[in-house]
Amino acid sequence: MPHVVIIGCGFGGLAAARELADADVRITMIDRTNHHLFQPLLYQVATAGLSAPAISAPIRDILSDQRNVTTLMADVTAIDVDARAVSLEDGSRIDYDHLIVAAGSTHSYFGRDDWARLAPGLKTLADAFEIRRRVLMAFEYAERESDDRRRQEWLTFTVIGGGATGVEMAGTLVEIARHTLRGEFRRIDPQSARVVLIEGSDRILGAYPADLSEKAREQLQALGVDVRTGSRVVHIDEQCVRYTNFDGEQSLASRTVVWSAGVAASPLGKSLGVETDRAGRVPVSPELNIAGHDNVYVIGDLAAAQSDGKPVPGVSPAAKQMGRIAGRNIKNRIANRALESFVYRDYGSLATIGRRAAIAMVGKFKFSGFSAWLFWLFVHVYFLIGFRNRIIVMSDWAWAYFTFKRSARVIPATMHLPASHDPDRPG
Ligand SMILES: Cc1cc2nc3c(=O)[nH]c(=O)nc-3n(C[C@H](O)[C@H](O)[C@H](O)COP(=O)(O)OP(=O)(O)OC[C@H]3O[C@@H](n4cnc5c(N)ncnc54)[C@H](O)[C@@H]3O)c2cc1C
Repeated sequence: MPHVVIIGCGFGGLAAARELADADVRITMIDRTNHHLFQPLLYQVATAGLSAPAISAPIRDILSDQRNVTTLMADVTAIDVDARAVSLEDGSRIDYDHLIVAAGSTHSYFGRDDWARLAPGLKTLADAFEIRRRVLMAFEYAERESDDRRRQEWLTFTVIGGGATGVEMAGTLVEIARHTLRGEFRRIDPQSARVVLIEGSDRILGAYPADLSEKAREQLQALGVDVRTGSRVVHIDEQCVRYTNFDGEQSLASRTVVWSAGVAASPLGKSLGVETDRAGRVPVSPELNIAGHDNVYVIGDLAAAQSDGKPVPGVSPAAKQMGRIAGRNIKNRIANRALESFVYRDYGSLATIGRRAAIAMVGKFKFSGFSAWLFWLFVHVYFLIGFRNRIIVMSDWAWAYFTFKRSARVIPATMHLPASHDPDRPG
């Protein structure tokens, strides 16, 4: 039986495996984590609204009924397209007849990788735990701080990047400060916390039409976020963020910084031997193959795919649709049938801003506010993987909506370093 190797069990890889469920192939699914992650709700874990199992599920469990799949938890370190083999982190190699590379993307610090330690980005569960720890610990340190200036630095949260993730993070951080923590501290007033959203271009949510982006800005400001557009970050350290805007260089004293400004494709794309674009994405044919290798498919965030002459956005529906086409084209090739070309179907875009605030674009319809927020809730619960996850998320959200409380605020002991040992707490 032909051997299909799939690298990455995210949205694209999982869709491909499912498409191949009825095929006479042997599939090896390789992922460096043991879970499939619903990234659109990751910010909820980072802001203590949901626990990790609510938005993730073990890959073995998801694929347990699919008898033609073997799951391996391993890190793919290289791909040799000429030898038709992938290398794993322990030095072993796995041969394939057909390969689907669905390794997704990672953060980009635009050449300033030293900022990663100071301003973590949000991509994995580990990132979400780290951001959650920093946010919750900032309030703890502020409560223990006797110096007014340092206390205010702990109570200033900066989000860099006004795309969907930055907007979600900023809106939710305000909610934590204004509502969730109300009445829990004795020396500080959590409501005095500031949340600043810094965006380089002249508007937030730049992928949306200007009127919706303006609506998002109004809703964010109404929630209490300080939105600073046209501001390019030039320096980050443990105590401050510096940025340039129309008036020159500005300094913002802030000890908790979250990065949501840049995305780069998985470095695995580079080992395919084809030239990648500036974001590291791999150019693919309409059938989703790389040049010169019609048994190698690249899909999802890692692919620089085109549809109707336009670049396909790095979103989960596009990854799933590509996964299905790659799976079908493997079946077509085995059966000597004509291959299908990928055509992206855009069902719309949604971005949540905070409690009862969101924007939505579905076909020609654009709407914002409470109705968009309700629609956002419905869509995200609907697309979550697994019945159990839907129940957990719905009950946690209902609880949070009526009580303003967030259910995942426990900081595990290993994460709770004493202040003197915490690398994030400089004196
Ligand atoms: C915080 C956040 C919020 C988002 N919100 C939305 C949203 O609201 N709506 C939307 O449509 N899209 C959203 N996206 C984008 C969406 O999640 C991606 O477009 C989608 O996940 C891409 O799917 P993929 O299959 O290409 O990659 P992924 O889903 O990222 O999966 C890649 C998989 O590959 C594995 N992997 C990577 N490298 C290796 C390796 N070397 N070896 C083994 N395994 C490896 C990873 O562990 C992962 O499981 C969001 C993304 C993030 C980070």
